[in-house]
Amino acid sequence: MSAYQIAVIGGDGIGPEVMAEALKVLRAVTGAGLSLSWEEAEAGATLWERTGEDLPKETLALCQGADAILFGATGLPNVRYPDGTEIAPQITLRFVLDLYAGVRPIRLYAGLPSPLAVPAGRTIDYVMFRENTEGLFASRGGGARVGSSLALDSLVITRAGTERVARRAFEWCRRRPGAPADGIRRVTCVDKANMFRSFALFRQVFQEVAREYPGIEAECAYVDAMSMYLVQAPWHYDVIVLENLLGDILSDLGAATVGGLGVAPSGDIGDRWALFQPSHGTAPDIAGKGLANPLAMILSAAMMLRWLGDRRGDPAAVEAADRIERAVGLVLAKGIVKTRDIGGSATTRDVGEAIQKALGA
Ligand code: ATP
Repeated sequence: MSAYQIAVIGGDGIGPEVMAEALKVLRAVTGAGLSLSWEEAEAGATLWERTGEDLPKETLALCQGADAILFGATGLPNVRYPDGTEIAPQITLRFVLDLYAGVRPIRLYAGLPSPLAVPAGRTIDYVMFRENTEGLFASRGGGARVGSSLALDSLVITRAGTERVARRAFEWCRRRPGAPADGIRRVTCVDKANMFRSFALFRQVFQEVAREYPGIEAECAYVDAMSMYLVQAPWHYDVIVLENLLGDILSDLGAATVGGLGVAPSGDIGDRWALFQPSHGTAPDIAGKGLANPLAMILSAAMMLRWLGDRRGDPAAVEAADRIERAVGLVLAKGIVKTRDIGGSATTRDVGEAIQKALGA
């Protein structure tokens, strides 16, 4: 039997609420060849207010010693570092653990409301690869500020950083059935290469990597046009690779087209470690009210199991991931329960329970 040790960080706001449901679902798929154990640790804004630390040494050590990290959400709008920025240990972890690929699947499940008119026979199913350790985020905590009259942050693109995320995107694409519109395996590079040298290098390196994958179509788009295409014809896309801040923005846009942040999972994946968390933040407006949709968190837990299974060649973990995704698909398609964000009135716990029941179906 394969056994995995998971580091669990609930965090702030709705983080612990959605995490509680994901842990129940993980407990329900344990057994039958799969052993999961976890240890919970603290990080985030609430902890920072109490102790002056947002990512204690013990939490980092737990993450480094675990097989995978499951993360809720951290940061609160009214709790800030002295420089005015938000407490964000999840971003620190991306840099410290070198989690360079931000993998964000955008998939329209049957039963989910899309604000787009999706033509019959078409669907939305693509994956964004957000470069996670450079781009504009490389300036986080750095940059320069002159009093209250001038501030500067630099956007960093390196050949090595671009190569590795582009390769990951092509490798991921190889295993997919292609874009929903035409079944063609396609990787799209999104940038602003017509205006900035940094993005021109990003595109150049992308095109060089693309030549290593002759069976996959490679194309490029400017980010402004892309924000239109993702609304007009998202079914054209299969895998998308882009700089850190562009990925931050366009992945929220993508999530909006498939039902919102409450159903958008993500994985921050490096060569050694990986962290899985919903694409949403701490949603302080709904925290503590039982309104949070736990599906993004539950689907992130499924992504974690799939990553563990692929890495260890372990069919039990992959099967558990499949089971969770099937259960989510079933609950949504049948409209069994839905939280308010996707047009229902169920509570966070109702959804967690419905997924557990559906696992047995
Ligand atoms: P961050 O910058 O940390 O990603 P954010 O400021 O973009 O966070 P979120 O906390 O993600 O904001 O919330 C954005 C909006 O989406 C809020 O109105 C929030 O209530 C809603 N939302 C986010 N997550 C969920 C969820 N799981 N269920 C229901 N609504 C959610």
